Amino acid sequence: MARRTKIVATIGPASDDPTVLRRMIEAGMDMARISLAHGPVEESLQRIARLRTAAADAGAIVGVLADLPGPKIRAAGFPQGGVYLEVGQEVALVPAEPGDHSGPDRIAVDHPTLLEELRAGDRIALGDGGVLLVIAGVDADRAVARVLSSGRLEGRPGVNLPPERFSIATPTPDDLRMLDAVVAAGVDAVAVSFVRDHQDVRAVKRAAGPDGPMIVAKIETPSAVDDIVRIIEESDGVMVARGDLGVRCALEDVPHHQKHIIRVGVAFARPVITATQMLESMIHAPTPTRAEVSDVANAVFDGTSAVMLSAETAIGRDPVNVVATMSRIAVRAEQDFDHAAWGNRLGPQQLAGASPTARITAAISAAAWRAATDAEVTAIIACTNSGATARAISRFRPTAPILAATPSITTARQLSMAWGIRPMLVDPQPTTDEVVWFAVQAATRTGVVKPDDVVAVLVGSPVETEPTTDVLRLVRVH
Ligand code: PEP
Repeated sequence: MARRTKIVATIGPASDDPTVLRRMIEAGMDMARISLAHGPVEESLQRIARLRTAAADAGAIVGVLADLPGPKIRAAGFPQGGVYLEVGQEVALVPAEPGDHSGPDRIAVDHPTLLEELRAGDRIALGDGGVLLVIAGVDADRAVARVLSSGRLEGRPGVNLPPERFSIATPTPDDLRMLDAVVAAGVDAVAVSFVRDHQDVRAVKRAAGPDGPMIVAKIETPSAVDDIVRIIEESDGVMVARGDLGVRCALEDVPHHQKHIIRVGVAFARPVITATQMLESMIHAPTPTRAEVSDVANAVFDGTSAVMLSAETAIGRDPVNVVATMSRIAVRAEQDFDHAAWGNRLGPQQLAGASPTARITAAISAAAWRAATDAEVTAIIACTNSGATARAISRFRPTAPILAATPSITTARQLSMAWGIRPMLVDPQPTTDEVVWFAVQAATRTGVVKPDDVVAVLVGSPVETEPTTDVLRLVRVH
């Protein structure tokens, strides 16, 4: 059976070549992430255009997730291959000038008032927290820091300054400018960095407009973990952003937050992306560590909708090999995925206070999951305009494949981060009977469904305010 866990791969300088992009798609990249933190927005818009061309050439449906940087302070770029900082070594920190670079003795930081705000004794974590500095002293033109914990720095790592003096609100004015540009470029989803609570998600949603892209909240602060239920209700998806989460929370809490965020996200039928350092060693090496292989497999067992690659595919040595490796690990882990336990655990959904349409969708999708199990269907076909019907059944992590029939290319691309859903483009139809008939025909063309098979078909109605899933049919294919 095809892989059910989706792969989100960050594209960057290592994946700009159209042949590499095409091979990444063939190796299993379902959605491309573009981090807007690493260069001018025009460069990201060119990457989006190249990705769209590569997907068209490959005849594949690939979503685009644009990741807004949020109030993250970064270092100017390190040279290709990065630099290694040794424990005890001294390094200068300076405010970055336009076009500045960082190196082994001098780190240029994108924060003009850096020297006014730093104090001797401040501890600064770089990147995903691997490299730790302590400030020894601050002069008029530089701060001198000593390395407490060694490691390699590459690309434009984050510079985590003491949060009590350097906290800036999300979304930043830069985020909102970038949001306009990527919405105009037609991205399918936007990730919001450093959300503090559900109000931050609401602000970005409002700015993106009513027909805007999906909004994915990155959970990387303790306050976001505390507000997780309301953030998930407000968002269209969430990301377990383990890099910054591990800087701001105790490291040993990260796996527990991961499991909790996945459970709540799936309960609310939202896609959950597990991100960061999944195959980190493959930035330089041809094979992953055993611990990384176990990490990807465990995220699959946790029920994550998607697993994500960051620097591995953006600046790594062999992005195609990384995607292929991640795909093999996920396929193998899925052989031991306990589908029945998932469905049974999710069955009695908490519906107190839910709207009538939400109650209808929950009841019909639960009935579809049970009927699909009892009738041993070959596939579940979700006919959907917004994608909500497909996500409602994906929540149960059913054994049977889920095919989503939609007339909307945007919906099809947005489903590329949802667990187990294979999108199919169909023409719009005027009646439910025709919607069902044409969706079953499209399913047979995929080869997943054959004559005489039984399929469960779910149909969503486009209601003005909230999409509802309100029809279930069990169909014997002719
Ligand atoms: C993270 O911190 O884990 C993350 C995904 O964010 P970014 O890569 O933008 O730092």
